[in-house]
Amino acid sequence: MKKHVYIVYTGGTIGMTRTENGYVPTPCYLEQQIQKISELKSDLMPDYDIHEYDPLLDSANMTPDKWVSIAKDIANNYHKYDGFVVLHGTDTMAYTASALSFMLKGLDKPVIITGSQIPICEIRNDARGNLITAIMIAGNYKIPEVCLYFGDKLFRGNRTIKVSADQLDAFDSPNYPPLGTVGVDIKINWDRILPKKNRSIQVCEFSRHSIGTLRLFPGISAEVVENFLQSPLQGLVLETYGVGNIPDQDRKLVNILRKASERGIVIVACSQCLRGTVDLGAYAAGSVLQKSGVISGYDMTTEAALTKMFYLFSQGLPVDDVRKMMQENICGEITIP
Ligand code: ASP
Repeated sequence: MKKHVYIVYTGGTIGMTRTENGYVPTPCYLEQQIQKISELKSDLMPDYDIHEYDPLLDSANMTPDKWVSIAKDIANNYHKYDGFVVLHGTDTMAYTASALSFMLKGLDKPVIITGSQIPICEIRNDARGNLITAIMIAGNYKIPEVCLYFGDKLFRGNRTIKVSADQLDAFDSPNYPPLGTVGVDIKINWDRILPKKNRSIQVCEFSRHSIGTLRLFPGISAEVVENFLQSPLQGLVLETYGVGNIPDQDRKLVNILRKASERGIVIVACSQCLRGTVDLGAYAAGSVLQKSGVISGYDMTTEAALTKMFYLFSQGLPVDDVRKMMQENICGEITIP
């Protein structure tokens, strides 16, 4: 029996056209182009339906409310389709992929997020290939998780980072190997894929929370950090150096972080490095964080840590539980040493 794929089209370069102000998403254009792709009419390809969002977005305009709409759209159509493709701009694709992985509880079907660096309106583009392969994977491979497909690689969504503004392999998953590679054949590494949950699908909606990220740099002023940590901030992803170091000789800064933790702000240390894990016990410049109530984000990306905080705060959990669960594996986003 033919497989059936639901395509959620949110916007992004993939369906943009040129204007005097640069590329903009153009309603109905992508669907017209897709209808012209003869490969998609092959008996070997799944059937598909496209739901084009209004307005189509440059993903720079994506918000947590819109993540919820995408998750609900997938859940509402869950039983009618074998798999899902989300067409999305590359700029915030890793955030949406991470957010959906936390929101879609009980997901046992593939959700493949993709887009392109060059729009389908250009003669030479990566839109066509990414789209065709994403539909094939969504329809034919029973991968029970949110994935990101780009540059011939299938990644776990909540492990991805956009690493290039202009290369066609724009994404990487530095701390988790690809779930699949696409060459002459589509090869899925089944041993890297999450187990099936055998539960019903459920959307854990994100509610509004004040969560931020802050990247340390040499000479960052304690006052700037103090201002950042003012109410209503509830959670902070602190992008620290290396394995989780901060300038521990700046006692003012250390005290500000400690006091913020005591006030109930959840501070999670991630690394500015792409690869490797935070280890707050490795250096004195890191253990000072541990003593200040800052918790380790281990090898999570900033995108995953941020959206995980949204998810946990949205469950209405007490702060101590949010801290505890930030350091637990929920859907393959973290490697606990
Ligand atoms: N600015 C675009 C977006 O994120 C970039 C892209 O899609 O590649 O929507």
